[in-house]
Parts: sequence; structure tokens; C-alpha cells
Amino acid sequence: MSVEDWYRVDRLPHIFCAGCGNGTIINCTLEAVESLGWKIDETIFVSGIGCSSRAPGYISTDSLHTTHGRALPFATGVKMAKPNFNVVVFTGDGDLSAIGGNHFIHACRRNIDITVICMNNQIYGMTGGQGSPCTPKGALSTTTPYGMDENPFDLCELATAAGANYVARWTSYHVKELNQAITFGLQKPGLSFIEVLVQCPTNYGRRNKLRDVQSMISAMKDHALLKEKRDRLLAEGKPIPDGMFVVGTLTDRNRPALGVKQ
Ligand code: SF4
Repeated sequence: MSVEDWYRVDRLPHIFCAGCGNGTIINCTLEAVESLGWKIDETIFVSGIGCSSRAPGYISTDSLHTTHGRALPFATGVKMAKPNFNVVVFTGDGDLSAIGGNHFIHACRRNIDITVICMNNQIYGMTGGQGSPCTPKGALSTTTPYGMDENPFDLCELATAAGANYVARWTSYHVKELNQAITFGLQKPGLSFIEVLVQCPTNYGRRNKLRDVQSMISAMKDHALLKEKRDRLLAEGKPIPDGMFVVGTLTDRNRPALGVKQ
């Protein structure tokens, strides 16, 4: 087996725009499942609706491409019916934290033994660039033409507060770290939540002075603050620089979990 065997090549070419970050996340995930020796017929990918949620359609396992925001209830059902199967959810920031927000907190509360990978492009990409609950303050979208005025969700803090066993954040720039985080999360009993900031040049970048892919990737690289460095700054009583977001392993604990392999 190789990572290519996990792809449904008959479904290619994919629908993602040129320069979209979603492909990087899919590849990191499939490299992780392959490295763990997971079997195609014992693994299920589940998604809701949005650009990210097209991912399972390109993977050769059984998959469920469900309704908007509902990937987690479907994944919970699959895991409870088949606890010995590996269940992985691909979702986006709108799918997970707007229409699917309630499912997200309850899946974390239950600490169901699945891995949730959120491709956070900070906007509704598939439907043309509307603001999502993760659109940063001041950012432009079709529904925030004068700049987003609301505070965005911190999905990782939400997952931690609600009860997930493992929570990490990386970006599509941090390929090696992301691969390691996904590999760890896939093996961790309970709910593993991995948020990945991804570039969406088509709908986020072109409205927010980040028109080309390189600018978007550089912005993610330049604004990522390692958790260890953040902790050091806080311990020294120094301020966190404006516009930075924290990356790394944010939570790793062993709360009782639901649907763990027997
Ligand atoms: Fe990727 Fe954005 Fe295009 Fe969707 S709209 S495929 S997130 S670049």
C-alpha cells in the first residue's frame, strides 16, 4: 500500500480552485493514515457541506457526504454502530461552527472517539465568500463589505472547554507539524480536534489584500505563534503581539471517551 491507494483517481480532477490549501490537508491526512497502517475497508470519512467537505469524495474508503453542519451526528452514529472502525471527519469553519455549532460542542462533550479536521479558510468559500463565525475582525466578505464587526470563534478553545481529549492548531504552511498532529490525533482515544488554517485565494484572499497564494501562506507563517513561545511571553508578563494566533498542541488529556475500540 502507498498513499496513492487512498485516492479515488477516477474522481479527479478535483473541484478545488488553483492554489487552494485544502489539498495539502487531505494529503497530510492520508499520509498519516497510511503511516499508521490503517485499512481502507475499516476507515470511514464523513463530511458536511462546503469546499472542505468535498474531500471524502476523493478518498477510496467508504464515506458519507452529509447535510450542512451534520457531519458530526452522522460520524457519531457510525462510530457507535462500528466502534472498531476508524472515523475521520473533514469539515470547514462555517459547516462546523455556524449551522453545526451545537453538534460540535456536544461531540466534544461526549468525547466520542473520532478525529475531526477543520479546514478553516475563515469564510464561506463554496457559496461565494460570505462571512463565517471564524472571519477575523475587520476582514472583508460579501456580507461584511465594511469589515467584520463581530468577534470570531476560537475553535480550539471551544473544543477544549467542551471536553475534547486532543486539540491542536496548525496551518497549511506547517505541513510537517500538521502531519505529526494528525498522526497523533488519529491514535488518541476520544475526540481529537485539529484546526488547520488554509488559504482560500478565491474568496478570502482576493477581498483581503492577499490576492496571491504566496501572500496568504506567508501571512499564516508570519502570524503563527508557537504555544511554547506564547506561554513564555505570558510567564514573563509580556503582551502577545497583535494579530498573532497560537499554533501547536493546545490540549492533550485523557477524559473518559465514548465509542473507543474494544
Ligand atoms: Fe479553496 Fe476557496 Fe476555492 Fe473553496 S473557494 S476551493 S476554499 S480556494
